[in-house]
Amino acid sequence: MRIKNLFMPTVKEAPSDAQIVSNILMIRAALMRKISSGLFAYLPLGLRSINKISNITREEMEAISASECLMPLLVPKELLDYADRWVAFKKELFRVKDRHDIDYGLAPTHEEDFTEIVKGAVQSYRDLPLSVYHISTKFRDEIRPRFGVIRSREFTMKDAYSFHMDEACLDKTYKDMSVAYSRAFKRMGLDTVSVKADSGAIGGDNSEEFMVLSNVGEEEIIFCEKCSYRSNVEKAVIKPEPKAETYTSEPFVELHTPDITSVDQLVQTYGFKEINLIKTLLYTMDTGETVAIAIRGDVAVNEKKLSNYLNGCDVELADEATVRAVSGVRVGFAGPINLKKKVRIIADYSIKTIHAAGMGINKDNTHITSVNIERDFTVDEWADLRRAKEGDLCPECSAKMYSKRGLEVGHIFKLGEKYSKAFDFTVLDENNKPVTPTMGCYGIGINRALATVIEQNYDDKGIIFPITVAPYEVIIVPVEDESTDSFKQAELIYNDLRACGVDTLIDDRDARLGVKLNDADLIGIPIRIVVGKRSLENGFVEVKLRRETEMREVSPSDVKDYILNLKKQLFDEINNCL
Ligand SMILES: [Zn+2]
Repeated sequence: MRIKNLFMPTVKEAPSDAQIVSNILMIRAALMRKISSGLFAYLPLGLRSINKISNITREEMEAISASECLMPLLVPKELLDYADRWVAFKKELFRVKDRHDIDYGLAPTHEEDFTEIVKGAVQSYRDLPLSVYHISTKFRDEIRPRFGVIRSREFTMKDAYSFHMDEACLDKTYKDMSVAYSRAFKRMGLDTVSVKADSGAIGGDNSEEFMVLSNVGEEEIIFCEKCSYRSNVEKAVIKPEPKAETYTSEPFVELHTPDITSVDQLVQTYGFKEINLIKTLLYTMDTGETVAIAIRGDVAVNEKKLSNYLNGCDVELADEATVRAVSGVRVGFAGPINLKKKVRIIADYSIKTIHAAGMGINKDNTHITSVNIERDFTVDEWADLRRAKEGDLCPECSAKMYSKRGLEVGHIFKLGEKYSKAFDFTVLDENNKPVTPTMGCYGIGINRALATVIEQNYDDKGIIFPITVAPYEVIIVPVEDESTDSFKQAELIYNDLRACGVDTLIDDRDARLGVKLNDADLIGIPIRIVVGKRSLENGFVEVKLRRETEMREVSPSDVKDYILNLKKQLFDEINNCL
């Protein structure tokens, strides 16, 4: 492509509302433009990279025999009602009505469409297993769109769905997908780790996320120092620490603590240690019930774990009025003894380590100390409810764990029978008996993958694209203008490379060399060829890799073979890691 004709509006300054590198560079390098909050338009360079990422994904899906389809973006409410997702998605689902007042959702994912289609076509065990997928747009009405395409309201996803007669068959496809995902991400030049994850609103109990480690990651991943255990903190199981050897024999005493309503204040004002305090948090469930959670002062409640523990009920911290109704006092003085209203007291295992605890006792401006957790109060239920953090013990090997931030680019789930059951989908087995197929679903965020490739590959000049996903593989920069012999030489190289199937740009703009070189660096094309009069007189053109600093001198007659070879090397570097 000739840059003179290419719609490539690069910009010097970072957009004021972009906070992260990928977002800034995707705008500056003319990969995309922001249309509105969480909505982005792809320009030619961005679209080419997106297409390359999609094609890598396609090839890996094809390799494990998944068939490509394409579902509509409007999903009738009727379909979303089958598994109650019209309700479950709450405000995240964009809802529209047609002229007949019929409701539709703008596709959040496509479990329903695929289940409906496959149900209509598959009757016999002979037709399974079956894996189908598409690459298409998804919509989420995000409460806070941010980080460019990392959390946007409209995005492209590859979502695949598999259907099986039994668990063992699903296990096999799930493993195949996991391998295909690792390969696809490696081919995109992405360094990912796979971690156990929470399956959220989609349902199912077995899932794995593919994360790119990044300081701007929205997820926190916890890793064991010794073994291979790693998990999203939302899902991380924590091995309970050893309980205290003894509990205090002193009686508990009241302490006057005027206006001291937080762990921090107790620590600062009275010299308590966080690990000797018990916080009592009141949570309201969406059923209206209130529960009291007793947890150690230095750890936080993992609301996801709490919600799972309470059979998937949504939970939120109780409001002021509820706190007063249950504890009889204002926020900050609640405790598990003497609650005004009887509620379930659920204790996190962490408080078992406290020999003599300090805590609230539902009395204004008062805390108590020397609490013996076995003697002084009754716990209705014990559970693992805390959010994992650095230093926690690995559930597999008891070694310490550390944490890092990650961006999710892929997610695979075992869905089980959630959708097949909801759709009343059965298949006849060998004995002509109807069986409900079990399902898996598997997603890759395509534009998110592009953003994370950039998060992992840039310098102060711009993007450094891996060749597999670069919008173009080679950029030719003529030093002199169109009327010169050196320009004609550049054009010859351009035509030669294109004829050999190399994705090539030529910067034929009437611009200063500095501008062209800066743009070439900014847009991150892996191989650059500078063709100028002076170097030609000395018998060479300058070839440079975007990721390197040194120039290579290559004779014009050899340049075609040299570039073909270089391109192959760059591809091999990536593919040899598979
Ligand atoms: Zn471990």
